Amino acid sequence: MKTDIQIAQENQMQPIMTIAKTLGLGEDDIKQYGKYKAKLSWDKIKNLGQEENGKLILVTAISPTPAGEGKSTMTVGLGDSLAKIGKKTMIALREPSMGPTMGMKGGAAGGGYAQVQPMEEINLHFTGDMHAITATNNALAAFIDNHIQQGNPLQIDQRRITWKRVLDINDRALRNVVIGLGGPTNGVPREDGFDITVASEIMAILCLATSLHDLKDRLAHIVIGYNTSRKPVTVRDLKMEGALTLILKDALEPNLVQTLYHTPAFVHGGPFANIAHGCNSVIATQSALKLADYVVTEAGFGADLGAEKFLDIKVPVLGKHPDAVVIVATIRSLKMHGGVPKDKLKDTEDVAAVKAGFVNLQKHIENMQSYGIPVVVGINQFVHDTQEEIDALQEACQQMGVECVLSSVWENGPDGGIALAEAVVRACDQETYFSPLYVADETTIKEKISRVVKTIYGGSDVQYSKKAETQIKQFNRNGWEHLPVCMAKTQYSLSDDPSKLARPEGFTITIREFVPKIGAGFLVALTGDILTMPGLPKQPAALNMDVLEDGTVTGLF
Ligand code: ADP
Repeated sequence: MKTDIQIAQENQMQPIMTIAKTLGLGEDDIKQYGKYKAKLSWDKIKNLGQEENGKLILVTAISPTPAGEGKSTMTVGLGDSLAKIGKKTMIALREPSMGPTMGMKGGAAGGGYAQVQPMEEINLHFTGDMHAITATNNALAAFIDNHIQQGNPLQIDQRRITWKRVLDINDRALRNVVIGLGGPTNGVPREDGFDITVASEIMAILCLATSLHDLKDRLAHIVIGYNTSRKPVTVRDLKMEGALTLILKDALEPNLVQTLYHTPAFVHGGPFANIAHGCNSVIATQSALKLADYVVTEAGFGADLGAEKFLDIKVPVLGKHPDAVVIVATIRSLKMHGGVPKDKLKDTEDVAAVKAGFVNLQKHIENMQSYGIPVVVGINQFVHDTQEEIDALQEACQQMGVECVLSSVWENGPDGGIALAEAVVRACDQETYFSPLYVADETTIKEKISRVVKTIYGGSDVQYSKKAETQIKQFNRNGWEHLPVCMAKTQYSLSDDPSKLARPEGFTITIREFVPKIGAGFLVALTGDILTMPGLPKQPAALNMDVLEDGTVTGLF
């Protein structure tokens, strides 16, 4: 069996201008980054406003196994299959972070015969967006410390600086650091820490900004910490919004690439869904909706995380809700939710475990239906799945009245997803009655959290640490209670305990702390032990990677 990278390297890409032309774009509408990558230009983005929107399909998943359930693979494959049945289609994906690429997950450009290209570049430096986000974030950090060094006219309390530095690599040793050591010429010592770039508020801002003007406005509203009177200090107070917008300007333009089968795709923005809002950029999704009749996009991890945030945080900014939701399920993850240990998932047929694990998928289906959007379940077929296991899953979905379609795009490319594409087109033709979980500015912070916990996670109560209680009072005083809440929670369970698989009930979620992201426009609620800077595993994926003498890349999955 060929690896993802072998399949990608054997494929012949078309020049990106050829792909752009299929969308009706001319040479002046894109900025080329080499032969196979381009950014959609600002001038074109501004002029797209008049066009009518296409149909929006959100791909999400059941609570995943550590390896991922193939959401990106299914998103790319579904896009190719829709194109194959004659629909003018675009795909809108997130950009991979080098943290998980080098760590444990592998790439995020899809897999098998459902990939976006050039995968080697997309998985590494791509068009430099991640570096631009890192640089913007760290430029702000440097300016904060310089402000303190130069006399601190804003009276920033260095014990209450919330702005951290970032790096796009998993590095647990940087979670807590002390900076400014070495005497008076080397800064004012203080405790600091690093997050992974994709957890940065700058990433969230890039993904939610609707224009350059909006980008600057959001950057200006970032709260970097508090002054000695405990009042928030913003980027506007530091007069940094102009410079930060400048560093980020080009990164805001969506990146255009293609699939193995030449379907156009935007790959842009990449916040994680467990510690951030988990969706690609609003600008990319919006542009795709204007350029194509069907847009397939993806939100990270399970539907309790990525899809909830897509629907409650991104949709109000995007101004368009999905016309259909595809929930990706795999037999292996159902078996895991049904009690089979991780190392036994592909060994033996276990229909009973599939049936027992179905409760997890059932909860995600109910959740997505509660938003009033038609749901289709897409089974991402693995070679070890047996017919009996697949039948059991399809039967369980049938009993819920939900269409459940097998897809083998990983193995067979667009031909493997025709039935799913047709089911999705049918779903998009149904009427939707979109009903969000909450209207952010009409609901208190606690009520918003309570609705997510009780309606989406299936929990029975929420507990707040003393610190979180104090923060809520402070946020109300600062006028931030109207913002949506972005839950930071483990992806492995509907609860905040990763070991509680399937469909846990009666659990309590503990809100440990909040991180206000005022520029992005949401309040992050940290639950359990969720970390904003991951560590590397014992055997990092990077150990398999190499470059041969002729420049050929190996081991990138
Ligand atoms: P997710 O988006 O859910 O995190 P990905 O689409 O990135 O998952 O897939 C994770 C990995 O699993 C990729 O290396 C991909 O090649 C592999 N994969 C996906 N679907 C299949 C499948 N049906 N059979 C075998 N491997 C698969």
